[in-house]
Amino acid sequence: MLKLSLIAWLLCSLTWRTTPTSCHRTQPPPSVEELLANRLHSYMDLTARPCENFYQYACGNWPLQQMEQPPETQQMAEQQQQLHQREQKEQLQPSDTLAVLDYALNRQLEQLLRRGVSNDSSTEDEQLLSIHEKMHNYYRACKRLKPYNLKKYLQLLPPSNCTGWPLLSRKWSPETFSWLATIGRLRSYGLNGVLLKEEVLPRWDDASSYAINLDKPSQQETIPMGEGAIIELLLDIGQTKREANVLARQVDFFERQLHRLQDIEDDMGNMETELCYLAEIMPQLQWTAFIQELPINATASELERPPALLIQNVPYMRALDKFLRRHKPETVCNYIMLKLLAFLKQQGPAEISRVECVASLRRAMPLAASLLIGQRFHDPNSEPLVSEIFGRLKRRFGQLINENRLQLKQPILRVLQEKLDAMRLQLGFLQLNETSYVDDYYEPVQMGAQSFYENQLALLRLRVERNHQLLTMGNQYNGNNVSYLTERELSSSLSPFFALPRNLVLVPYGFLQLPIWHRNMSELQQHAVLGFILAHEIIHGFDNHGIHYDSVGNLMGPSEEIWASPRYNQSINCIEQHVATGSKSLSEKIADFEAMRLVYETYFGEKFSIDRKEPRDPLLPQFSQRQRFFISFAQFFCGKQQSLNAQHLEHAVDELRVLQTLANFEEFSREFGCEKRTKMQAKKKCRVW
Ligand SMILES: [Zn+2]
Repeated sequence: MLKLSLIAWLLCSLTWRTTPTSCHRTQPPPSVEELLANRLHSYMDLTARPCENFYQYACGNWPLQQMEQPPETQQMAEQQQQLHQREQKEQLQPSDTLAVLDYALNRQLEQLLRRGVSNDSSTEDEQLLSIHEKMHNYYRACKRLKPYNLKKYLQLLPPSNCTGWPLLSRKWSPETFSWLATIGRLRSYGLNGVLLKEEVLPRWDDASSYAINLDKPSQQETIPMGEGAIIELLLDIGQTKREANVLARQVDFFERQLHRLQDIEDDMGNMETELCYLAEIMPQLQWTAFIQELPINATASELERPPALLIQNVPYMRALDKFLRRHKPETVCNYIMLKLLAFLKQQGPAEISRVECVASLRRAMPLAASLLIGQRFHDPNSEPLVSEIFGRLKRRFGQLINENRLQLKQPILRVLQEKLDAMRLQLGFLQLNETSYVDDYYEPVQMGAQSFYENQLALLRLRVERNHQLLTMGNQYNGNNVSYLTERELSSSLSPFFALPRNLVLVPYGFLQLPIWHRNMSELQQHAVLGFILAHEIIHGFDNHGIHYDSVGNLMGPSEEIWASPRYNQSINCIEQHVATGSKSLSEKIADFEAMRLVYETYFGEKFSIDRKEPRDPLLPQFSQRQRFFISFAQFFCGKQQSLNAQHLEHAVDELRVLQTLANFEEFSREFGCEKRTKMQAKKKCRVW
């Protein structure tokens, strides 16, 4: 029953600010440390050998502990048919620590929304009331969906004024269909990375102002959806099985060929120009139709100078045009439609449970959700503690830079130190006093309590408009410094990240919750989990990408000088060998390897440097403090073995992260007494800084 009590306690602890008396208990509650010690022990598989597979040792029983459901969800599930019930239960089980956190947070937000957010507090702030009302209406409209019907989006959003969708409309006319006009129109509703990619990003040479970036989609974005996923979407919009099969085959063939265009080399490189010159560079493409659909025109007249445009992969775009001419307009339009449906489905609520409407709300209104989470669930007393850890990590990394393992020249060391000094930590996607900014942001949209699809499309469009407005505000813009990221998933996720053009580590409010963080946790536990994450993000400022950026986030970092160091090259080669066996990118591997050393030395180096005779762990005396540090670190990555292939792969990635990071760290094997030939001892250990 440990699990149930833990979840109940977790939920209670989340509401401590709003409803401190909502959790009545008969016995004195266990302390945070006691609960965490019990939890740590219950996740472990003590039959596994730590030197052979430390992940199994630390996380082996994690999935078992996640089997029990919160009571309310169970009741709901019992009303369903048995088969469906089993399916639902499986899907509802959180798959990893972040999912546990997400789920607990969504349930808290749901309770708040059911009561009506503003009823819950005595706020008289009109701006806040207006934000809450919009969130509440979005949520209510979502809950009224019976069922969630993707076809509604297509009815609201035709590919252009001149034509309808081939599958649904008698208005379909291949002669007037223009793929660029369609892509432009759907781009203004948030679809991106389909055939082209258009983004407003900080300028490379002046990160405080913005430019439009036009590029080909990423490799990831053009990975074919596959016939199965296409058929599912087509059935969702009411196609018969037979129709869906025929169409899926056509689109699948198209998609595979399209994916091959990724191989085209960019022998022209980057170009800086203005939108109006696009037609000169690539006259065969109908750029005017595309540009007219983007939400730039409204603001362009206010500008003294038109916004700068950075183009990459012109040869791809030329080849794309030829490629699309070889295919029937109908197939091209169907492909775009399917990508749109997949995108919207991802933004909307998954059909399985009611908290999904909260999840969808967080995705649709990331700024409002961040404000609400910050104001209701964030403990301001944690801030100095988190900043303190961040500061200590920075100091230790500063020492490492100055020890100069890479034998860099003094001026380069100074530049690196300057960057480290300037690196900031920000809690929350925005600040708690930014209510009026958030109110202004959402001012143009009204949320109907009955009109989910309209609400969602209006919010998506708003987000793209707001991003394009950054182009006109440039240097004088005093708004949120990461607002250019609102279209990215990370604006609504609980995952911390490093913003390269801002030299900024961002930790969302929702992340600083149990089981990851509590201000009454031991310092050891705080360092082993949050400390590692912060260190990982700091290192991103100094990994193979990070070194391209300077202290203010311009792409003018000392990368060439660093690459000239033979030691740096050796280190990167060493780590690349690990990437070959893993599936994460080089920069992630660098961040993991270096962060482990950094956080370990920050914590133990400062506290117990002379002799290693620190006391055993008081609650778990079978482990040394250092052993407990490694177990706690590993347990942040515990996850469920998934039956689906794709998810299984992701799980494997987390497992691999733990195994490789620890096997690369000599202190780990020393602490667990791992011998030379065991799996948890990498043959060659890599180190960069
Ligand atoms: Zn990372």
